Amino acid sequence: YEAKRAKVRCMRFDPRWERARESHLSLLSALRVAVEQDHLRQFLQPKVDAVSGALVGAEALVRWQHPTRGFISPGEFIPFAEQTGRIRDLTRWMLRRAIRNLAHLPALQAPGCYLAVNISTLDLLDTDLPAWLATQLEAGGVDPSRLQLEVTESGLLASGNGPVKVLTALRAVGVTLALDDFGTGQSSLAYLQRLPVQELKIDRSFVSNVDHDTRRQNLLNAIVDLGHSLGLTVTAEGVETVGELQVLRRCGVDLIQGYLISEPINEDDFAGQSVLA
Ligand code: C2E
Ligand code: MG
Ligand code: MG
Ligand code: MG
Repeated sequence: YEAKRAKVRCMRFDPRWERARESHLSLLSALRVAVEQDHLRQFLQPKVDAVSGALVGAEALVRWQHPTRGFISPGEFIPFAEQTGRIRDLTRWMLRRAIRNLAHLPALQAPGCYLAVNISTLDLLDTDLPAWLATQLEAGGVDPSRLQLEVTESGLLASGNGPVKVLTALRAVGVTLALDDFGTGQSSLAYLQRLPVQELKIDRSFVSNVDHDTRRQNLLNAIVDLGHSLGLTVTAEGVETVGELQVLRRCGVDLIQGYLISEPINEDDFAGQSVLA
C-alpha cells in the first residue's frame, strides 16, 4: 500500500502526468462536444468488383476535425472513445449519417449498392442497438439490406456469448454483417462458422506486397477458398498496387478496397466513379 501511495504521489507531482491528465480530460470533453456539435465527418471509401471494377458500395470511416488540434485519426480516438463510454454516441452518429447518405447520395443509388459502418465490440454489448437501428432505418426510408456492419474478431471471443446474440439480433433487422481485419484475430474456424456474417474482409497485412512472395500468395488463396466454402463474399482491404490486384484476381477475391481505387473521401465529393479498368 505504501509503495502504491508513493507511486501515486510521484505521479501527481510529475508535471508530465499533470499535463497528460489535463489533456485526457480536455480530449474527453472535446469528444463529447464533437459528437454533439457535428465536428465529426463521415468519409467514404469505394468498394469495387475485383473483375469488372464496378462500384458495389463503400465503407464509412469517421474523421474528427478538432477545432485546435486539427485532424485526429480514428486509430487515436476510437480506443479512447471505447474506454470513456463515448463510443455508443459515436457509433449512433455514424449509423444515422450512413442512413442519410444511403437515402440521398446519388453515387449510392445504384441497385444493390451498400454502405458499411464499423461497429466496436463494445457496441455488441448494447442490447438496445438492434431495435434502435430498425427504427432509424424505417424513419430514413432505407432498406436494411443496404446497410452493412463491420465487426472485428478481436474481442468477440473474449466477451462470451453476449456479442453473438446482439449480432444475431442485428442480422435479424436485415442488415448484412462483415468480419473486418480477418486473419489478425484469434477466432477458430468453428467460431467463424457460428458467426452470422456474409462478408470476410481480408486484412491489409495479407495483401501488402503479396505479389512478391509465393508462400503468401498460397496463404491468400487458402483464405479466399475458406471464405467461399462458407458462402461468404471475400473482400481485400488496403490494395495499393496493380501487382497486388493481379494476385487478388487470380485468387478469386470478389471485392477490392484500397488506395489503388481511391482513398476515403468526403461524402460531398463521393461520386463513386470507378478507376479500375
Ligand atoms: P478498418 O475498418 O480496417 O478501415 C481501413 C483503414 O485502412 C482505414 O483507416 C482506411 O483509411 C485505411 N486504408 C484504406 N485503404 C488503404 C490502403 O490502400 N492503404 C493503407 N495504408 N490504408 C488504407 P482509418 O480511416 O484511419 O481507420 C482506421 C480504423 O479505425 C478502421 O480500420 C476501423 O477499425 C476504425 N474506425 C474507423 N472509423 C470508425 C468508426 O466509425 N467506428 C469504429 N468503431 N471504428 C472506426
Ligand atoms: Mg472496416
Ligand atoms: Mg479492416
Ligand atoms: Mg485494417
